Amino acid sequence: MRLIFLGPPGAGKGTQAARLAGICQIPHISTGDILRTHVSQQTDLGQKAKAYMDSGELVPDQLILDMVVHRLEESDAQDGWILDGFPRNVSQADFVENVVLNAESNSEEMSQKDLRVINLDVPDEILVQRLLARGRQDDHEETIRRRLQVYREQTAPLIDYYHERQQLHSVDGNRSMDEVTEALKTVVSV
Ligand code: AMP
Repeated sequence: MRLIFLGPPGAGKGTQAARLAGICQIPHISTGDILRTHVSQQTDLGQKAKAYMDSGELVPDQLILDMVVHRLEESDAQDGWILDGFPRNVSQADFVENVVLNAESNSEEMSQKDLRVINLDVPDEILVQRLLARGRQDDHEETIRRRLQVYREQTAPLIDYYHERQQLHSVDGNRSMDEVTEALKTVVSV
């Protein structure tokens, strides 16, 4: 099973992706988490990415794509994965379609059709409340506003992108965590 979690910051992608990964026994791959590890370990990538993350901008594709390829090559990712926070713009989505899925579809069990994309839908005012309550380092009001703007400009177009490919499943994320998880289990048929 291969899943992509779309949705604005604060929609609950991380929480729900982790739950579903446990249920489906596949890795939860969060590009934000990987980047935060690089920042805290002060790797070369972490040092390059930090300023973008602190200001709510996307980290440049050239830094992200290598990092994702590297992670997907690990042994636990060979039978499926949940991507959380990637792709984040159309060129990253093209990369998934042209590079990641083509490489993997050599194996018979996995074909392009297996990809499901989940859009967690949550109204803006709820997102801001949730993000302010979360208190992560990049959860300041100004950065939050910029992250939501970046989401609308660069990531939201992926809703149409995957809708056109008939891979999109929208789930109402403005419910209790358990209700959202139940809805997601229906989408992935477990
Ligand atoms: P997240 O934890 O998914 O909210 O990501 C935190 C920050 O990491 C974002 O605001 C971006 O600066 C950066 N980031 C995470 N994933 C990506 C991605 N796929 N492309 C570019 N930047 C990313």
